[in-house]
Amino acid sequence: MNEQMKKGGISVETEHIFPIIKKWLYSEKEIFLREIVSNACDACTKLKRLSSLGQADFSGENFRIDVKLDKDAKTLTVSDNGIGMTEDELEKYICSIALSGALDFISKYEGETEGNSSGIIGHFGLGFYSAFMVSDKVDVITKSYTDAPSLKWTCTDDGEYEIDATYERDGRGTDVVMHITDEEAEYLGAFKIRDILDKYCSFMPIDIYFDDGEEHKDDKKEEPKPINDTTPLWQKAPSECTDDDYKAFYRKVFNDYKEPLFWIHLNADYPLNFKGILYFPKISHEYESLEGQVKLYYNQVFVADNIKEIIPEYMLMLRGVLDCPELPLNVSRSYLQNNAYVSKVQTHITKKVADKLTGMLSNDRPSYEKIWGDIRMFIEYACLRDTKFRDRMKDSMLFETTDGKHVTMQEYLDDAKEKHADTFYYTTDKVAQAQYVSMYNKQGIDVVILDTVIDSQYITQLEGDNKDLKFLRVDADIASAMKADGDVKENEKITALFKKVSGKDDLTVKFEALLDEGTPAILNTSEEDRRFTDMMKVYGMGDMPSNEKLTIVVNTKNPLISSLGDKLDADENSTDAETLAKRIWMLSLLSYRRLSAEELQEFLGEFYSALGQ
Ligand code: ADP
Repeated sequence: MNEQMKKGGISVETEHIFPIIKKWLYSEKEIFLREIVSNACDACTKLKRLSSLGQADFSGENFRIDVKLDKDAKTLTVSDNGIGMTEDELEKYICSIALSGALDFISKYEGETEGNSSGIIGHFGLGFYSAFMVSDKVDVITKSYTDAPSLKWTCTDDGEYEIDATYERDGRGTDVVMHITDEEAEYLGAFKIRDILDKYCSFMPIDIYFDDGEEHKDDKKEEPKPINDTTPLWQKAPSECTDDDYKAFYRKVFNDYKEPLFWIHLNADYPLNFKGILYFPKISHEYESLEGQVKLYYNQVFVADNIKEIIPEYMLMLRGVLDCPELPLNVSRSYLQNNAYVSKVQTHITKKVADKLTGMLSNDRPSYEKIWGDIRMFIEYACLRDTKFRDRMKDSMLFETTDGKHVTMQEYLDDAKEKHADTFYYTTDKVAQAQYVSMYNKQGIDVVILDTVIDSQYITQLEGDNKDLKFLRVDADIASAMKADGDVKENEKITALFKKVSGKDDLTVKFEALLDEGTPAILNTSEEDRRFTDMMKVYGMGDMPSNEKLTIVVNTKNPLISSLGDKLDADENSTDAETLAKRIWMLSLLSYRRLSAEELQEFLGEFYSALGQ
């Protein structure tokens, strides 16, 4: 052995730590590359910083990282031209890992789920050693940016190392040569490595080049390009980013050809200190997964996909990137749960979403109206789940009317002041309830569409928040909405006849003079009863049309009703009157709801026979 060769053991405990590193990180082996490449990045960043502090002059330098595969030698090498290490530094930073702390921790948590493993590695600065998850030997060839000589350190997976101080490295920087084991041979595959680099290193701040070791005769002439984007969009000032930039970034990161509905560029100062861009995706059909994807970064180093804990549960459809240097690089799920910092981040995000939407309403209402249909359900749900969000959004919630207008609650109520103060008329099915809707429209009353499962809970909540506010479905209160002036005479004979032809003893028959003279009668149901029945249906209980408490509102202004009265006056048992009443009943039932099979049979029989008369 050469005089200048030194031998050593990482520490007594390394015999323990090496097998543990391998065992604990089993499920996330690929992060070794992230650790080694991000160390290389740090090494370059450190030198850059020294330059900017005036302690060294590397300002004109092209910092770069090279990841190189050599299948024959079975090595994967990560090289940088960063700060490098002197022998002392190598001893200090690489050879003496904070083992005692790590061992305590491991003995305490051994046996817990594997999810915690990455936390250990990051927590105790074992990042470099994750290389041993896939290697049986690692060389570190390094030359400090100072005058110190270069050296080569070689360590095997039993923790034994040697330092060759005669080794010459060209120029400053560090190469980490990983000798990949036969079991982990997949990490010698070019696709595999490219995949891992794309996943973890796409936005790292120093140019990264990948050489897969294959000869590319065809594209030899092409200049190699870095695999990463060193200045990702979220790091830029929002004023420097165009809509096209945001859309392109979204396409690239999420491979979604549909344009996002809107986005929010986050830039939270101290103490939250995070940046990011969140997108509201267009969800085109109900079978599409509603789960978004928020990628978490730590100073441009990818940490994890879809960290649900950071985004409020009711905003999970959001997609985007968050760069949170305040969270540890190797953050674990359990760490995030009930974490005070995380809940502040959540609050911030919710506030920004509300700010964005309220801002859109006042600054760009046409765009807001355009996306409203797509976002409505999610926003209503968020309002149900979060009172603060609801409060922020309360003046920016829109309602779509049956004729395609969008109105805020205030606008609708201002309009309603004279004819139906504090009352919203709505339809749950614009087609099925068309007859009713048209009666309102004829009187100049707007009807809003509330046709999702969430709507009924949402309006119940709005009524709770606003004392006088009432939401009535178009078939709930037709009489008071349509009432015309004039006397109303009740007619007991007509009442009896409708009870008879409907077969419902409990049918309520109400006489009203209605503005819409063309309609002889219309069915009404109580809003409360109906909402209750609807709710039962949502929970899979109750079946229409049982327990249906109906009121038939008979329009005394309608000529058919007058003629019905006349017929009954002339002959109390008039069959003509009975046929007419039956037909009015069936038609009003038809415009109220879908007929049952028997009702439909009866209806068709009745009208086919009418055709023959
Ligand atoms: P951490 O990066 O969390 O500090 P690591 O085990 O990954 O822990 O690295 C330990 C130390 O080794 C680093 O802090 C750094 O000082 C040094 N180091 C690792 N890789 C390099 C490199 N490529 N160039 C210079 N120094 C390095």
